Amino acid sequence: MSVYAEQLSCQELVELVTDYLEGALSEEETARFESHIGLCDGCNVYLEQIRRTIALCGRLSVDALSPEAERALLDAFGGWRSS
Ligand SMILES: [Zn+2]
Repeated sequence: MSVYAEQLSCQELVELVTDYLEGALSEEETARFESHIGLCDGCNVYLEQIRRTIALCGRLSVDALSPEAERALLDAFGGWRSS
């Protein structure tokens, strides 16, 4: 099973965000990541929230997301986390 064979799903993108921001993705993965970000509002919002969190906290902490942001994200992703 290859996660990267086709267009990333939103869930896959979320799982790659930290690697993306740390520059740990391959060129191919980065290209897929950015093409999804360019097409998907929900993931755009998510990426911006993570970037803001880093700017505020000086480090990467998904746990620091505000409840409002997290709710907006869950809405944007259609609640995939709950399944
Ligand atoms: Zn997405």
